[in-house]
Amino acid sequence: MKQMINPYLKNLNKIEFVVTYACTGRCKHCSEGDHPTCGERIDPDIAANAVRGIATEYDIKTVMTFGGEPLLYTDAVCAIMTAAKERNIPQRQIITNGYFSKDADQIRTVAAQLAACGVNDLLLSVDAFHQETIPLGIVKTFATESKKCGIPIRLQPAWLVSAADDNLYNIKTREVLAAFSEFEIPVGEGNIIFPEGNALKYLAEYFKDELPKNPYVEDPADVRCLSFSPGGEVLNGNVYQQDIMEMIRNYAP
Ligand code: SF4
Repeated sequence: MKQMINPYLKNLNKIEFVVTYACTGRCKHCSEGDHPTCGERIDPDIAANAVRGIATEYDIKTVMTFGGEPLLYTDAVCAIMTAAKERNIPQRQIITNGYFSKDADQIRTVAAQLAACGVNDLLLSVDAFHQETIPLGIVKTFATESKKCGIPIRLQPAWLVSAADDNLYNIKTREVLAAFSEFEIPVGEGNIIFPEGNALKYLAEYFKDELPKNPYVEDPADVRCLSFSPGGEVLNGNVYQQDIMEMIRNYAP
C-alpha cells in the first residue's frame, strides 16, 4: 500500500467494473437474472480516471471488466485497460462470453483492440449454460483471433454442485471444454454456481444440501475490491456525482 487514506480500505488491491448489464446470453445459471440486449454502459472517461486516481494511492494488483457482456461496449473496456496499463497495474482482466458480434471482421478488430489496450488475462466463459444460447462457432472465432493477437486466454466454466459432480450440466460442460482442446487454452478452475438470480429460479433442485456461497461478497469493514456498476455506483455513492478519491476518504461501512 502506498498510503493509508482510509483504514476500511487498507487492503484494497482490486478494481472491477460491471461495464454493462446488457448481454447476448440468456443463461439459466446467471446470478444477475435476466438481461436486456442493450443498455447502460459505464462512462469510459470517468471509469478510466477513477483507475488512475485510485492507482496513485493504492497498489492495485488487478483491474477487471465484466458484465453482462462487456464487449458490447469495447470503448469502455479499452479506456479502462489503457488506464490500468499506464499505471502499471499487473493483471488486466476481462470476463467475456465471446459473443458480441457475428461479423468476422468485427471480431478480429475487437481482439486487436483488446491486445493493444493491454488486456493480459482473458477469461472465456464456456460451459453447458452459456452454450444453450451462445453459438460455440462464434466463440471459437473470437478465441482464435485473440490467440493470434497474443492475448493470454483461460477457459472459465461454471460448474453445478462441484467440478467433480456428474450431473447432466457438468457432463455437457466437459463436452464443451473438449470442443476447445484443439486451441490448447488452459482451463481455469471456473466457479461453482451459487443460488442467486436465475440459478435460484431454474436450478433450485441442485441447491438442496450445503449451499455454495456467493464468493463475491465483500466485508464492508475491509474493502479489498472496489466494484463499479454501469450507473457509476461504488462504495456508498456514485462516481458520476462525486470524486472517487473523496468517496474513498469519506467511506464508512
Ligand atoms: S452468465 Fe454471463 S453470459 Fe450468461 S446471461 Fe449472465 S452475464 Fe450474460
